[in-house]
Amino acid sequence: MTGSNLTLDVVLIYPDLLGTYGDSGNALILKKRAEFQGMKSTIISVDSDEKIPTGGDIYLLGGGEDGPQNYARDLLARDGGLMSAVDQGAVVFAVCAGFQIIGESYVDSKGDIQPGLGLLDAKTSRMPKKRAVGELVSKPLFDMGQQYLSGFENHGSGTELYGDTQPLGRVVAGVGNLDSGEYEGAVRGKIVCTYMHGPALARNPSLADFLLYSATGTHPLLHHSVDDLQRLLLSERLAKVVRS
Ligand code: GLN
Repeated sequence: MTGSNLTLDVVLIYPDLLGTYGDSGNALILKKRAEFQGMKSTIISVDSDEKIPTGGDIYLLGGGEDGPQNYARDLLARDGGLMSAVDQGAVVFAVCAGFQIIGESYVDSKGDIQPGLGLLDAKTSRMPKKRAVGELVSKPLFDMGQQYLSGFENHGSGTELYGDTQPLGRVVAGVGNLDSGEYEGAVRGKIVCTYMHGPALARNPSLADFLLYSATGTHPLLHHSVDDLQRLLLSERLAKVVRS
């Protein structure tokens, strides 16, 4: 996308399966922030009985329980639309179960290894310690004009990155990708993943702008606008875990 008159198509994938944790709100935030930057934007919500369009700009996957997660993976593999969109240069933002699905493999609640979609050098396995539940704060490892990223994590599996997949942030509070509590999320090209619910983009508008930048090539910091309510939400959540 270039120029100012274009419509940014945000494709929300299977909110009926991957909508348990409110991650569908990420679509609304992207649409609004695109509009703040003078773009038109449309949300294309695709339920599990529908075909995924391949011409979207940003594709969103949310979190979900193990059953819907496996079902969503099956449908995504069969549909093929997400992979075609990635081949055409689309941006993907995937949260928790979505993050796990697009990697090489993950382990379900029965302990069975499940194939992922292979869009990311990442392998997910059951975490030996207890389920990671609570506030998750990290320092972004990419320049996005926000000192901390804040979210809420709730996952029983953890994800190991390898190859050219980089972490999104360094954990300050919470667990993140693995029990070691070192890193959170993943970035590979235009694919960005996180364990942050919240929804993540409502708490972290700079992360939304980072995705918009990937999709449009317009630098978000030039248009950076985090309004007072968003600032208030982020600082209120951070105050729970980070001392300034
Ligand atoms: N079922 C996965 C896990 O527990 C993902 C959970 C989620 O999306 N919050 O690890």
